[in-house]
Amino acid sequence: MIWKDGILYTTGKSIKGDRVFGKLRVWPPERSKLAALYYLGVVPDINKTNDFLYLGAASGTTVSFLADYTGIIYAVEIAPEPLFGLLEVVERKKNVIPIPADASKPEIYSSIVSNVDFLYIDIAQRNQAEIAVRNLFFLKSGGYLIMMLKTRSVSAHEDSEKICKETVDIFLKAGMCDFSVTWLEKYHRGHVAIVCRKRFIEKSDE
Ligand code: SAM
Repeated sequence: MIWKDGILYTTGKSIKGDRVFGKLRVWPPERSKLAALYYLGVVPDINKTNDFLYLGAASGTTVSFLADYTGIIYAVEIAPEPLFGLLEVVERKKNVIPIPADASKPEIYSSIVSNVDFLYIDIAQRNQAEIAVRNLFFLKSGGYLIMMLKTRSVSAHEDSEKICKETVDIFLKAGMCDFSVTWLEKYHRGHVAIVCRKRFIEKSDE
């Protein structure tokens, strides 16, 4: 990752709304939960050989920065309005493949998406953990799941810590391991990042 004087940057083509210094694009933690995670927590190494399935691309703000560091990003978004913004990003970032679809129905895009190294989900839905689990079959063993959990979308009344723990339990049961949990409160109210890894399949487990 490119850090200079405590600020996170990328080096790809700029997008409308960017702050740019020479060839460097500022990746602001206030505009992107993934950037906030880089500032506050631990993110696995990401490089050009890593492909992503990204659920909840919206207009592509985070996708546009991430694309400067990764291989292919399959960017799934259900709502028609943000897709216009996402298509502008696609014009600038040749490694982003937009998929207008409902992430709760992965069978719709399973013929387009190859196995990926990272599954990223930021959809702010009540059943967001369940949707992540439905998409886990795209993730290679040893690959990472990064979930930006909006606890208030799950329940406005339940305790946030409890919702986070229940989400971790869902992923544990789904075969994930090596968890790290980072609260993003400083930049994104009511959000927590859960990062975990898909277990490697041992010969004896087959
Ligand atoms: N990840 C984006 C970023 O950092 O630039 C912001 C995502 S925004 C918080 C959540 C997005 O998830 C919305 O654009 C919403 O339309 C989308 N979404 C919600 N439910 C979805 C679903 N079932 N399938 C795909 N996208 C969904």
